Amino acid sequence: MTRGVAILGSTGSIGTTALRVLARQRERFRISALTAHSNAALLEEQVAQFHPAYVGLVRPNGGAGAWRTGPECLVEAASRKDVDVVLNAVVGAAGLDATLAALERGKRVALANKETLVMGGELVSQASARGGGEIVPVDSEHSAILQCIGSRPRSEVRRLVITASGGPFRDWPREKLETATLADALRHPTWRMGRKITVDSATLANKALEVIEAHYLFGISYDRIDVVVHPQSVVHSFVEFVDGSVIAQMGMPSMELPVLYALTHPERVHDAGVPPYDPVEMSPLTFERVRWDDFPALRLGIKAGRAGGALPAVFNAANEEAVAQFLDGRITFGGIARAIEGAMRSLTNRSADSLEALRAADCAARTYVKEMVAC
Ligand code: NAD
Ligand code: MG
Repeated sequence: MTRGVAILGSTGSIGTTALRVLARQRERFRISALTAHSNAALLEEQVAQFHPAYVGLVRPNGGAGAWRTGPECLVEAASRKDVDVVLNAVVGAAGLDATLAALERGKRVALANKETLVMGGELVSQASARGGGEIVPVDSEHSAILQCIGSRPRSEVRRLVITASGGPFRDWPREKLETATLADALRHPTWRMGRKITVDSATLANKALEVIEAHYLFGISYDRIDVVVHPQSVVHSFVEFVDGSVIAQMGMPSMELPVLYALTHPERVHDAGVPPYDPVEMSPLTFERVRWDDFPALRLGIKAGRAGGALPAVFNAANEEAVAQFLDGRITFGGIARAIEGAMRSLTNRSADSLEALRAADCAARTYVKEMVAC
């Protein structure tokens, strides 16, 4: 029997990768639901190819026909009876409700939308405990960690080492970073991704989001999660065990495998579409220390993760808003980390015990950044 998949954010970088992967897996999976934000033309093409029972478009720009519209379509798609797996490939905090809804209904969430876990890690854990749903990560680093840990108990894990490509500014001097342009920031050396995560990879805020994501996914304390720069993006992450053995998962930099693995875990299937790995072709593999002082967004994010409460939600929302302002040309590259720092300084001790409280923290951080930019 085929399993039904809902793809939230089907028109994005991960969404289109997933459809490419799933077109080769029709005997295992069927596309039950697709949602997108506003790209109706591409969504139309996808509907014609995959015939989902449910189609949602958050912001219709023209006739949406029989499609559902509005932001509720994410939760509707994620809650359907004919959906077994929800691939959450939406960008930003907008994906949180759908993740919670799917977990409450006992479904698997193949999670690309890392902002969801950063904003509401505790609530997400509670939703899966209540409903019996599970999260399987799509992020390549977390997919790697999952594959390395296998079924070993957490007590055998000494440390996670998350790899970072270093982004386009890995070897830029600190003075030049302040005024790096948008075009510079969007020139990622190893991955082709949506604009928001590409900017996050340039500031290293993405790695901070990933450290927090790893903390929640694997239940490992922040003291035992390290980051190392690895420009080739071939080693997707390492797990060090208590006996000193270190296991890495490797492969060509392609999201097709982590997307497929999130759907089939713990099984492995044919036709992942990944180019064969040639160790000689891919050599040399190099590793460098993180330049913590030159990329302050990384340290700020980890600080927010360690503090817990609503601070990770504040970090995430301030970053989302600051990146949007940078994409619109209203702040400099260096201004992104300053906006995050300002929001974290002024919004301390906020409650995080309910969805409403987290939303309030999210909203306050966005307002803080908007007002800071307007001044
Ligand atoms: P993208 O911008 O290419 O695509 C985002 C998708 O979400 C689009 O389909 C868009 O229509 C939809 N969307 C955007 N805003 C929405 C909203 N408010 N409500 C509903 N739908 C909305 O982004 P992407 O690069 O595919 O990244 C998606 C997520 O996956 C992000 O959380 C990102 O951090 C994560 N991720 C991406 C990659 C990658 O290689 N692209 C790798 C790891 C993790
Ligand atoms: Mg990643």
